[in-house]
Amino acid sequence: MSITIVNAKIKTVAILGGGPAASTLATLLARKKISVAIFHVPKRAPLIVGESLVPAIIPMLQALGVEEKVASFSTFKPGATFNLRPTDNFSFFFNKLIGKTATYAYNVPRDKFDDALLDTARAAGVKIVEAAANVEKVPGTDKIKLSAETLAAAGGFFNGQPDLIVDATGRLRLVPKLLGLSAQESSRGDSALFAHVDSTQLDHPGHVHTTRIDHGWSWRIPLPGRVSVGMVMGPEHMAKFGATKEERYDNLLKQDSVLQKVAGNAKRLTPVMEYQNYSLISGRITGENWVLVGDTAGFIDPVFSSGLFLGMNSAFILAEAISTGTPAAFKAYEKEARHHLETWQEIVTYFYDGRLFTFFRVGEILKGNPIIKVLTPHISKHMGRIFSGAASTSNYSLGLLRFGMKNGLRGEDPKELAVR
Ligand SMILES: Cc1cc2nc3c(=O)[nH]c(=O)nc-3n(C[C@H](O)[C@H](O)[C@H](O)COP(=O)(O)OP(=O)(O)OC[C@H]3O[C@@H](n4cnc5c(N)ncnc54)[C@H](O)[C@@H]3O)c2cc1C
Repeated sequence: MSITIVNAKIKTVAILGGGPAASTLATLLARKKISVAIFHVPKRAPLIVGESLVPAIIPMLQALGVEEKVASFSTFKPGATFNLRPTDNFSFFFNKLIGKTATYAYNVPRDKFDDALLDTARAAGVKIVEAAANVEKVPGTDKIKLSAETLAAAGGFFNGQPDLIVDATGRLRLVPKLLGLSAQESSRGDSALFAHVDSTQLDHPGHVHTTRIDHGWSWRIPLPGRVSVGMVMGPEHMAKFGATKEERYDNLLKQDSVLQKVAGNAKRLTPVMEYQNYSLISGRITGENWVLVGDTAGFIDPVFSSGLFLGMNSAFILAEAISTGTPAAFKAYEKEARHHLETWQEIVTYFYDGRLFTFFRVGEILKGNPIIKVLTPHISKHMGRIFSGAASTSNYSLGLLRFGMKNGLRGEDPKELAVR
């Protein structure tokens, strides 16, 4: 893996894409007096996926100075509920989180959330270029450059090419595709359908509800005046529910034995969006004059709502690396970004193979046992800190989780709570 960024003084940065990772990075760089332009296409899809935040994002929103604005158009999120089968429902309340961590989060309409972050970048002095970005290889090198049209769209903002090009184009992954970078992809191959409906049944107001359905799982994310409902399953099951994505979505709400109970009468308010292949880690994250951030560097199955946390957190780490500007700083960025992605990927496997909730179930069954009584507060503290994002890469918390996954199932078969 080559990390050969040599310019210790990065003064100009082009960021491709105007999503949360791009805007977060741009704001932080502008505050460090680095000249930044974001290339952003204002026209967007009718809906953007990724509406449920984890508590560890709150300090980032505060550092960006945007929390009040986000709170004004979002739903307060006090916790998360997992419905795995009628007898196994688990609710987590963020106000029980202990240690240095926020005790709440928000569910955000993404159009407004993305606009708020972009406005923050603009106010910090970032130039927003309303044009699709394009890049080209510099022959015989590991370098890339902005195409002539992209450079022209910036209207002379860069005196020549920028010192650094950051790819924040999300799952479109402009630079990885241009350079043919390898990536590690999930073998699950699930599809997701997603739309907003007028209302659904909820166990706890404001909670994101993650529910095991006949084939796969579903999310319900309460938003102001509506609920985001998504279904995730293998394409072979999805295909049975109709020919178009709208037919499949509407039929799933009515025909899935679990969804019909919680959302059978829901009225769909928006078109249906479809997503495929949503777990990937790029083989390389940095190059000679380019670097990847947010989903472009990697994205993990969304079952724990970790995407925006990972994307914005990577922007915070990258801002420090760019301002330091040394190869060692970029190497450290790549290592840390990869570490975050890999640990969330590991945590997600414990959801799908059923071990995570079997472990919690065993804790419930044994709650009268004196040893379990003593251990439970400690284990709960660390599990909460992992899933809130506050300690998702803490060696100790993860060590405890791994120990539980290996030794804490008390002979129960995790397949009963596995999600296929
Ligand atoms: C099914 C599903 C459910 C999810 N649920 C959640 C959730 O509940 N919570 C959560 O935190 N995360 C969730 N995520 C993940 C979340 O959506 C992403 O992690 C997050 O949006 C990543 O932000 P980003 O800024 O990296 O990329 P994006 O938000 O994708 O932003 C990239 C931007 O770049 C723009 N762009 C692309 N190409 C170009 C170009 N050539 N020129 C200019 N602009 C360009 C795009 O239009 C877009 O605006 C989910 C993902 C999926 C697939």
